[in-house]
Amino acid sequence: MTKTAAFAAPSADAPFVPFSIDRRDTGPHDVRIDVLFCGVCHSDLHTARGEWGGTVFPSVPGHEIIGRVVEVGADVISRKVGDLVGVGCMVDSCQHCASCADGLEQYCEQGMTLTYNSPDKHTGGTTYGGYSKTIVVDEKFVLHVSDKLDPAGAAPLLCAGITTWSPLRHWKVGKGHKVGVVGLGGLGHMAIKLAHALGAHVVLFTTSPAKAEGARALGADEVVISRDAAAMAARANTLDFIINTVAAPHDLDPLLQALKRDGTMVLVGAPPTPHPSPAVTNLIMKRRSIAGSLIGGIEETQEMLDFCAEHGIVSDIEIIPIQKIDEAYDRMLKGDVRYRFVIDLASLA
Ligand code: NAP
Ligand code: ZN
Repeated sequence: MTKTAAFAAPSADAPFVPFSIDRRDTGPHDVRIDVLFCGVCHSDLHTARGEWGGTVFPSVPGHEIIGRVVEVGADVISRKVGDLVGVGCMVDSCQHCASCADGLEQYCEQGMTLTYNSPDKHTGGTTYGGYSKTIVVDEKFVLHVSDKLDPAGAAPLLCAGITTWSPLRHWKVGKGHKVGVVGLGGLGHMAIKLAHALGAHVVLFTTSPAKAEGARALGADEVVISRDAAAMAARANTLDFIINTVAAPHDLDPLLQALKRDGTMVLVGAPPTPHPSPAVTNLIMKRRSIAGSLIGGIEETQEMLDFCAEHGIVSDIEIIPIQKIDEAYDRMLKGDVRYRFVIDLASLA
């Protein structure tokens, strides 16, 4: 074991504090990574503040990790010392169930091992994420990141990027499609960039009129203020697909009504309490669907990273020192971030 400096939430209602964690020795299939940057996902906040329940404290979040390989195990073939790499939301899975065989490890039937707040098979404790100086991960869960990409801007691709890419690909979004994106935060801004790059016509639904101009710069073709009932009614039956990234419970009906016949709204936002149940008639009358989607598999994460390298896509970020993490959470709750905070781990002694 090696001691690693980290930042941890000691309990659901206490600010983050410096913390020391043990990283396992580099096993034959392991890659040891010096963390350069780690994005700040709303899931980190849900976990650190105990909003979903089940948080094991002290909690070290962080699953948008970019770093450099500093050591590889004897049997590692895919990565070498000096490589720029990424680690996302999971660090292990059973590798033999039907979902793992399909490259969809996030739906592993034995349960994937999350990058943080999962039982850690190796240490017997809990997994700790990227709010730390180093991490040791099985090579199968270590992604290649092109040196063409800005490493800080690439960090959020590991969660916000793949969580929006996976449903866009699964539902085959592309040219000729009209796609709604609900909520302009970390996930929402990646959904706009990726859907736009895939050739779709993108309509942003936001509660924040001040974000309209920025949304157009990201690639949104239209912006609708979702609290304006008349503007919402004017969108009825116009969209093929909606990706809903909102982190709080809200009325799904005006959004469902915006879907055409056979349209789908996929929920990726994971509020701590349920959305009010939508009207069944909004589903029945136009054969509309509501679906959900969880991050993405390793193969499709690599596909997304390669697509972003080819198309020059990274997140729009605000870099913070780790000491500002509580402030960043408070600002994220107010929707005051354009569009992702990224921690520079050089700030952690
Ligand atoms: P974020 O940066 O905080 O963005 C969420 C956005 O939702 C806000 O910027 C805001 O956009 C909108 N919003 C917030 N409160 C709202 C309300 N009461 N009513 C309507 N809109 C509201 O969060 P994020 O990091 O993108 O994460 C979003 C959600 O996705 C979180 O719940 C997170 O846990 C979840 N998540 C899920 C997965 C998955 O695999 N499914 C993966 C990662 C994250 P506007 O100002 O534009 O309205
Ligand atoms: Zn996340």
